[in-house]
Amino acid sequence: MRHAIHNQIMQVIHDMRYARYLLPLLLLPVACRQGPPSSPPSPAAAEAASLSATEERIRDAVRARYDSSVDLLRRAVNIPSGTGNLVGVRKVGDLFSAELAALGFETKWVSMPDSMRRAGHLVAVHPGTRGPRLLLIGHLDTVYEGAGQEWVQEDTVAKGAGTSDMKGGDVAMILALRALADAGQLREMHITVVMTGDEESTGRPLSIGRAALIDAANQSDLALAFEGGSATRVAIGRRGSSSWRLAVSARQAHSSGIFSTGSGYGAAYEGVRILDEFRRTMVGERGLTFNVGLLAAGANVSVDTGGVMRVDGKGNIIPPVFRASGDLRFLTEEQKESARARMRTIVLRPLAGAEGTISFDDSYPAMPVTPDGERLLEIFDGASRSLGYPSVGTSAPESRGAGDVSFVAPLIPGIDGLGVDGSGAHSPRELVYLPSLRMSAERAAVFMSRLVDRWPRKGEETVTRE
Ligand SMILES: [Zn+2]
Repeated sequence: MRHAIHNQIMQVIHDMRYARYLLPLLLLPVACRQGPPSSPPSPAAAEAASLSATEERIRDAVRARYDSSVDLLRRAVNIPSGTGNLVGVRKVGDLFSAELAALGFETKWVSMPDSMRRAGHLVAVHPGTRGPRLLLIGHLDTVYEGAGQEWVQEDTVAKGAGTSDMKGGDVAMILALRALADAGQLREMHITVVMTGDEESTGRPLSIGRAALIDAANQSDLALAFEGGSATRVAIGRRGSSSWRLAVSARQAHSSGIFSTGSGYGAAYEGVRILDEFRRTMVGERGLTFNVGLLAAGANVSVDTGGVMRVDGKGNIIPPVFRASGDLRFLTEEQKESARARMRTIVLRPLAGAEGTISFDDSYPAMPVTPDGERLLEIFDGASRSLGYPSVGTSAPESRGAGDVSFVAPLIPGIDGLGVDGSGAHSPRELVYLPSLRMSAERAAVFMSRLVDRWPRKGEETVTRE
């Protein structure tokens, strides 16, 4: 394992992204030697070009607390908290809850009913009267846990479950809040932190599982989510996802009669016709995908509550049953509804002797790119450049899966990907580039302090938005 880590570190050293985290430090002496620019910069560039004295204090506070934050992350990673480990998830929640309480947050644990088999969520509120009410989103659970998933640090790379997805993002969030407090900026800000306990495998029903998050969004103006990020990309749009299930029934008969008027085409041909028509008529629309994950046809098909299919039949029986299921991902709710309508129409034109039904289940709503989202990105990009980090753009909504921020997207503008940079998320090889923890916290803290002056609170729309 040490050898594997060593290889990863060598890779990182050769990774251009790594240099970006060090850029501000490397550029400091150069910046000090530089004279005034030869031509006056545009107002936007001037805004981005420098930090105010307060912002410099915020940045320095992040740097001063960086080492202790790495230690907090180490402790968090060493608490196993796979989604199904209810005790572990709660322990990570307690660890972060204590950090937030020390900053003046009122914290509480929101439990889930036993039947959902989920630990619950940490909710922490810091009441204040200045600026927009911010909702900061994290999660406590990980995909993997157990043997081989403990914290192993070599130099500036740390491996382990949750290092980047997303205990690293949670710690960056806490570090940013600490820095704001150290610089005297947190006192009047209104911030709600929600760290869910089941982001990686969301508890059902969603109406209960995401109620706390949606409540918090209803009392906030903006959502900032700390899922894994990179130096140059954040997300202001994410696709929504839902699932579909197709069931076809047909007359069972001797195979010799297939295609005849009496026997019809059977369930298998009808099911395949439907899926093929989905593909032929709907593939290619930007942002829309519909994967077939499972299918079966035969004399008997059973589907258990976990979605597992069992099938039996014979080659000489025209199959009476066909079942298929999959997902549907979309950029907007309109696109989702339009796709569903087309799928239903296709199902309603069956081959002779068969008949099908399709049903849909909502999961994550779409988070479309909006002008508010673009304005958030602009302010975040300015904060990044003022700190000496690279300019920040967006990743295409179709390039990311859905996340917890999607649930609040129908209610308030949001931005995601403010967390740390790493690799191997959702695999046993997860790791984090530790300098990105400092970058993430510096950018988030300066971003939040700028939002105080540049974003109105609901009902107080008089603040200038330029
Ligand atoms: Zn995550």
